[in-house]
Amino acid sequence: MSVRAGIIVTGTEVLSGLIRDANGPWLSEALRGFGVELSQIVVVGDRPDDLRRALDFFADVDLVLTSGGLGPTADDLTAEVVAGWAGTTMVLDPGLEERIWAIVNSLRKRIGGEEAPMRAGARKQAHVPVGAVVLEPKGTAPGFLVGTSPVVAVLPGPPRELQRMWADAVNVEPLASLLRSAGSLEQRILRFFPLSEPQIAATLREIDADSLPFEVTTCLRRGELEVATVYRPAEASAYATFEAEIRERHGDVLFSDDGATIDEVIARALSGLTVATAESCTGGLMAGRLTDLAGSSAYVLGGVVVYSNEAKTAFADVDPELIAAHGAVSPEVARALAAGARSRFGADLGIGITGIAGPGGGTEEKPVGTVCLCVSSSWGVEERVVRLPGSRADVRDRTTTVALHMLRALLGSRA
Ligand code: ATP
Ligand code: MG
Repeated sequence: MSVRAGIIVTGTEVLSGLIRDANGPWLSEALRGFGVELSQIVVVGDRPDDLRRALDFFADVDLVLTSGGLGPTADDLTAEVVAGWAGTTMVLDPGLEERIWAIVNSLRKRIGGEEAPMRAGARKQAHVPVGAVVLEPKGTAPGFLVGTSPVVAVLPGPPRELQRMWADAVNVEPLASLLRSAGSLEQRILRFFPLSEPQIAATLREIDADSLPFEVTTCLRRGELEVATVYRPAEASAYATFEAEIRERHGDVLFSDDGATIDEVIARALSGLTVATAESCTGGLMAGRLTDLAGSSAYVLGGVVVYSNEAKTAFADVDPELIAAHGAVSPEVARALAAGARSRFGADLGIGITGIAGPGGGTEEKPVGTVCLCVSSSWGVEERVVRLPGSRADVRDRTTTVALHMLRALLGSRA
């Protein structure tokens, strides 16, 4: 049996773009883990009519998840609207009121606040839809499971609360049985660099991917191409054939087939070697990215941001004559930066980056997006001059991706 779900994210702050939705994507992944097919994510403001329309929209799915609008204030109306939509009313649960008040009161003792309005808030939050299963609060707001077809799981908005409540909810009936009946979904992600969208599109046409029993998604992310596929266990052999055909054509640029990002691939491949950076146009983003992963202190020694010519000389030992002869954005300076990073930090690998992130500063010879990169080591050097498209932020971010792939190539070439 397949189980289909919809997600309703509520909150005018999300709708208006003030905050970015963290709950829809998180729940989407969580549902896939249970083999549930997600049909849509709908975002609505804090308006009862819009929420009702969103619920109507999902009338034919098996499961609806809502996020947000469970707080103590007047604009928190999700529980009430869902109750009305499911044909039931709200009733006070005195035991729940006491539990909520205990939480709110201990909070009040720490951060202060008047008792009466806080008691009123707790009472409001203790109203539950008749017949609903209560999910105990992870902050102050309880959640609910309401109805059977669809089952509506009403969850709080703050992401940490929602995630912790979801962990409880999956073991509570009727959600638990519904999730168990969903079967399982496998997900595979193949990551390629460099590979363009037109190239992968041509391949997918060639192997007639449209006629496959599963959906193939391609997406360009941070300059890398991702092919993500979700399939049922019964489709495993069709998937294996598909993956083999992709590998046959693009295996040389496939760098990950187990979901690992390039950052994780590098972290594994470094195995005991150390790295240091000297960056100009990326202003520390490279060092930042290298240290994003927990455990990076095992291989990142440090880095310098050398934006001015003087800094390049003072902190990365770049010969001023080299800059005068070739310009600060040049392969020669990138090489000197990489060597300087290596020697200054005593690292096995040095990364040197210099470029023109834009939007100003480009010339005909060196237009915006021109970046010179070098990764040096005792066994060899990788050098590239790239012209990256996009905004200043894109150029700077893409540069770090290119550097990581150069690092990978150099690590791969080590005897
Ligand atoms: P509260 O008791 O805090 O009012 P609530 O369940 O009523 O909880 P909301 O009022 O909708 O939830 O949201 C409270 C806060 O939680 C928001 O201001 C926002 O910071 C965060 N939040 C809510 N929804 C989302 C979301 N979809 N993505 C990221 N953060 C969210
Ligand atoms: Mg709220």
